[in-house]
Amino acid sequence: MILPGATLGILGGGQLGRMLGLCARRMGYRVHTLAPEADSPLGQIADRSVVADYNDLDAVADFARSVDVTTFEFENVPYATAETAAYYGRGPVRPKGHILHVAQHRRREKEFLAGAGFPTADFEYVPGHDALADALGRIGRPAVMKTAGFGYDGKGQVVIDAHTDADAAWHALRGEEAVLEGLVDFDCEASVVGARSIDGAFSHFGVTQNLHRHHILDVSIPDANFDPSVVEQATEITRSVLEELDVVGVLCVEFFVTRSGQLLVNELAPRPHNSGHFSFDACITSQFEQQLRTVCGLPMGDTRRLAPSAMVNVLGDCWQDGDPDWLAALADPEVKLHLYGKQEPRPGRKMGHITAFGATSQMAAEKAQTARTALVGG
Ligand code: AMP
Repeated sequence: MILPGATLGILGGGQLGRMLGLCARRMGYRVHTLAPEADSPLGQIADRSVVADYNDLDAVADFARSVDVTTFEFENVPYATAETAAYYGRGPVRPKGHILHVAQHRRREKEFLAGAGFPTADFEYVPGHDALADALGRIGRPAVMKTAGFGYDGKGQVVIDAHTDADAAWHALRGEEAVLEGLVDFDCEASVVGARSIDGAFSHFGVTQNLHRHHILDVSIPDANFDPSVVEQATEITRSVLEELDVVGVLCVEFFVTRSGQLLVNELAPRPHNSGHFSFDACITSQFEQQLRTVCGLPMGDTRRLAPSAMVNVLGDCWQDGDPDWLAALADPEVKLHLYGKQEPRPGRKMGHITAFGATSQMAAEKAQTARTALVGG
């Protein structure tokens, strides 16, 4: 058990780490981060910020020796980094590095899911260009080709439809290996953020409906009107994924819901997820506090909602015509603004999010979108 007053080490410096760090500081933990970038969203609020490459294993070992427990805030932290922290660290790494190993590589992720009997889209591993034609023959068109490693938010993926030159698509991806998936004609996308404690107890944040724009999450609506059987299946799949992987911490399962109400697992994120950001303001215990509690071995908190809510992302695009109009967005007292402290508002970059409240989560979603439109003078 790692009690308040101890030091939490976080590999990675992005917004997920920042929100975890804010919860940790509120509960009296000290927070250290190791990340390659200076002035990172987490570095700005941490007690100590080590700027080092994840592959600088001496720096990683020193870092792990200075903290009581190490966790990571995104899955692209190399496996060797987590293993080094576990070996040299004063305390444990939670969740364990093997979960990173599975989740950061699409082939391993898909093979884990299929091997454990979880439903996924049809897929084929494509080790190199030579294997593409055969794989495409088996999966058929339309298909989605994704680089096997280090992709997120639709980066490193391309749709191959009836008219696509597959060889050109392969070269455009510049991948050395890829996974080819059948394109799912889904009704909607959904996710469940789950948490699991050291003693195997499970909690979750319900099923959230997710709307994407250009492959990036745009709107998340918790407790949307899903069929009860979808809710039951999605939470049960999430519980068993966490159990199969022996997760101590938080993991999100992203789903496609097909038109016939079938669930297919799209991907796993072994950490809090953008679709769970609503919980920061809207739940008794947020996904970040639950992550802190589980990795520190504390009892889990109650995930019940305080009020219906929804979340929209604020991307760098909102800066296209100058600084956003914060006052216009905040004119509605049921709107909460989160900014991550990033200096450069590039298009598509997640700069912050807005959570809004309403009589229903659908009404909250409309409010959140209205507030975002007001940011850009709409
Ligand atoms: P990913 O990075 O795999 O989560 O993909 C980002 C987004 O691309 C997903 O949230 C979907 O909107 C879309 N996408 C990815 N894979 C597929 C697929 N097999 N079929 C349909 N849409 C997909």
